[in-house]
Amino acid sequence: MTTSHRPAHTLTDATAPPDPVRWPDGYRAAAALTFDLDAEAVMLSTDPASASRLMVMSHQAYGPLTGVPRLLRLLRRHELRATFFAPGFTAERYPSIIKAIVDEGHEIAHHSYLHESVAGWDRVTEAAMIDRGLEALDRVAGIRPAGYRAPMWEMNRHTPELLIERGFAYDSSLMDCDLPYVLAGSADGAAGDIVEVPVHWALDDWEQYAYLPDLTGSGLIESPAKVLEMWSWELEAMHAEGVCFVLTNHPFLSGRPGRLRALDRLIELMKSLDGLWITTMADIAAHTRTLGLKPRYFPVPEIT
Ligand code: ZN
Repeated sequence: MTTSHRPAHTLTDATAPPDPVRWPDGYRAAAALTFDLDAEAVMLSTDPASASRLMVMSHQAYGPLTGVPRLLRLLRRHELRATFFAPGFTAERYPSIIKAIVDEGHEIAHHSYLHESVAGWDRVTEAAMIDRGLEALDRVAGIRPAGYRAPMWEMNRHTPELLIERGFAYDSSLMDCDLPYVLAGSADGAAGDIVEVPVHWALDDWEQYAYLPDLTGSGLIESPAKVLEMWSWELEAMHAEGVCFVLTNHPFLSGRPGRLRALDRLIELMKSLDGLWITTMADIAAHTRTLGLKPRYFPVPEIT
């Protein structure tokens, strides 16, 4: 578990670079394929009135109904395990999809209840949202997730502590490193710590492909060939650097055939790279936990 208490002197602050990470079994870098099951939740959270817009709802339903089965076939063909971050609302609406993902041996992690963007939320309200998501995953598939990813990657200062209190092994929402690290929940170390597996907007398909009138995007939809080039460039460089490549895709976007073909080719490249550990986020977090890294406290900048 992640709630061990440490004295303050064992902490380091996040204004210093993180410690290097050694990968297991001779691997030289790591990679995880992650899929955020935002489905309808993200648009309902953005604008509740979108519930009555069937174009919008059907666009989002493409993820679980068409994208996920196709992605599962792709992953099975490549014999890879991935991590699926699920809002509780999606789990409740598509229980058979969640079960199909679990049956294929993939990891289900927590991705809020209704894809709420929590910037500025108070601790009690945010805690209730996280708990509602936990209850949904438990009720639908008996899952107690190891990991959490904040919608829009928006976290408050108190969010890591809320996750630590609930026994999460890792979070995947921050962007200050491209290596996993141990994040302290408080400056004095008393709040315990959690593994952080960082992400970045450049490795997210939303910015490349998403467009819904009035809701998201500019109308520019990128070519999968351009996206493959961009992600391949980053993958090869991250592999050379020995860091952790975390790709964030959404089935309602990357489950479409041309984009899936680009993902297929990216996976071929991943498999061709020497010593690249392709695994789940939970595996990366569990390995990170074994390294004895000094927890890093994230000091919020104060303007005086
Ligand atoms: Zn999301």
